[in-house]
Amino acid sequence: TEEMLARGRRAHDLDRKHVFHSWQAQGPFNPMTIVRSEGTRVWDGEGRELLDFSSQLVNTNIGHQHPAVVRAIQDQAADICTIAPQHVNDARSEAARLIAEIAPDGLEHVFFTNGGADANEHAIRMARLHTGRQKVLSAYRSYHGGTNLAVNLTGDPRRFANDNPGDGVVHFMPAYPYRSYFGSTTEAEETERALRHLEDMITLEGPQNIAALLLETVPGTAGIYAPPAGYLEGVRELTERHGIMFIADEVMAGFGRTGEWLAIDHWGVTPDLITFAKGVNSGYVPLGGVIISDEVYSSFVDRQYPGGLTYSGHPLACAAAVATITAMRDEGMIENAKRMGDEVIGPRLEEIKAKHPSVGDVRGMGCFWAIELVKNRETREPLAPYGGSSDAMNAVMGAIKEGGVLPFANFNRIHVVPPLNVSEADVRTALDVIDRALDVADGYVE
Ligand code: PLP
Repeated sequence: TEEMLARGRRAHDLDRKHVFHSWQAQGPFNPMTIVRSEGTRVWDGEGRELLDFSSQLVNTNIGHQHPAVVRAIQDQAADICTIAPQHVNDARSEAARLIAEIAPDGLEHVFFTNGGADANEHAIRMARLHTGRQKVLSAYRSYHGGTNLAVNLTGDPRRFANDNPGDGVVHFMPAYPYRSYFGSTTEAEETERALRHLEDMITLEGPQNIAALLLETVPGTAGIYAPPAGYLEGVRELTERHGIMFIADEVMAGFGRTGEWLAIDHWGVTPDLITFAKGVNSGYVPLGGVIISDEVYSSFVDRQYPGGLTYSGHPLACAAAVATITAMRDEGMIENAKRMGDEVIGPRLEEIKAKHPSVGDVRGMGCFWAIELVKNRETREPLAPYGGSSDAMNAVMGAIKEGGVLPFANFNRIHVVPPLNVSEADVRTALDVIDRALDVADGYVE
C-alpha cells in the first residue's frame, strides 16, 4: 500500500542518518528496504515482490512470518517476556529438551547464547577448560562469527582487520574437492590427503596443546562445499585419538538446511560440542547455543562454569524455537528440503551448468546449494577474486534481482538457499530467473 511505501521511504532516510551497518563502508552503502515479508516472499521499498532465495542470512528456514511461530511469540510475550537465566522457565526447558532430542545420543545439555558467534566462543571456552589446553584448530575458507575470537577462528578475509595472533588459533586447509589444495583429482584422494595434512598439523602444533578443532559440518558462506566421503569420520578419529574436542559448527547447516535435522546426520559422526543458531528458530528472535556432550558436561558438575549472558535462554527466543521445531516436524519441512534438493534443485542446476560456460561447479544438498562462477572452466579462475566482487558478479546479481529473485552471493558464488518449506513452483521460477541471468555471466567468459 502507499502508506507502507511512505513508511519505507522514511525508514530509509533515518537509516542513512542513524544506522551503522555490519561489514559496510557506511558512505556508499545503499541498503534495500523491505516493507513486508511472508513465506518465501519479501517486498522491497518500491513495493516489488521478490522470491527470497537467500533466507536472509540463511536463517529463515521456515520462511517469513510463519503463523504458528508468530502466535507462539505473542503468547509467550503475554505470559512472560523475559526472566533471568538462573531461573527455570518452561519455554527454555522445552526448547532444551527438543534440541537435545535432535542431537546425537550422549549430548544432553544445552547452553543458550544470543547467536552463533557467542555459541562458538563458549564452545571453545568449554573445550579449553575441559582439556586444560589452549590452542584451537579451525579451517581456512570458513565463517564462525563476528566477535573477537569467532572472527579469528574464521577463515575468510573478514578476519584480517581483527587478527589477534595471541589468541591461539591455528588454521588448516579443509577438504575442498573443486579447488583442492592437495592436487587431488578424486574425492577419495582429497579425503586421504586432507586428513594426512590435518594429522601433520596436529603433530607439528603439538596435540598436548590443542584444546579443540572447530569445523563447519558443511561450510556455508565460504562456499557450501560438503566434506567428501570419509573426511568427517577421519576428523572424528584424529581428534578422539589426541583428546582434542571436536566442535561442529552447525549454525548455518543445522536445523534442516541440508535435508537432515543436523548436517552431521549425513555422516553419522558424533562431535563433543555442537554450536547452533539461525534455523533453530528461524531467527525470529535472536538465539544460539552449544549442545554439550556428557563428557564435557562432567567437567562442570563440581566446578563453576565461568561464563554467562543476561539473555541466555530468553523466553521469547525459546518459545520461538519450540514452535519452529514443532512446525518443521508437523509440516515435514526436512523431508521437503531433501526432496527439493534431490529432485528439483540438484537436477535443474546440473542443466544450468551444462548450458552456461560461466558455471564452474554446482554443489549442495537439501535447500543448501552453491553455483560457482568462473571466467574459464579449465583454469577455474573465479569470476570475482577471493574476498572481492567484480563488475561481472554485480551484473549477474543485478539481473537476478531484476528477475524478481533475492539470492545470497559471496565472492564468485551465488547461493541458492530458499526456506525449507519452499514450493516446487517457486524453486522452478527462481531457477529459471537464475538461468536467464547467467547469460550475463557467460559474456565475461574468456
Ligand atoms: N557460524 C556459521 C557457520 C555462520 O554461518 C554464522 C553466521 O553466518 C555464524 C557462525 C555466526 O552467527 P551469528 O551471526 O549469529 O553470530
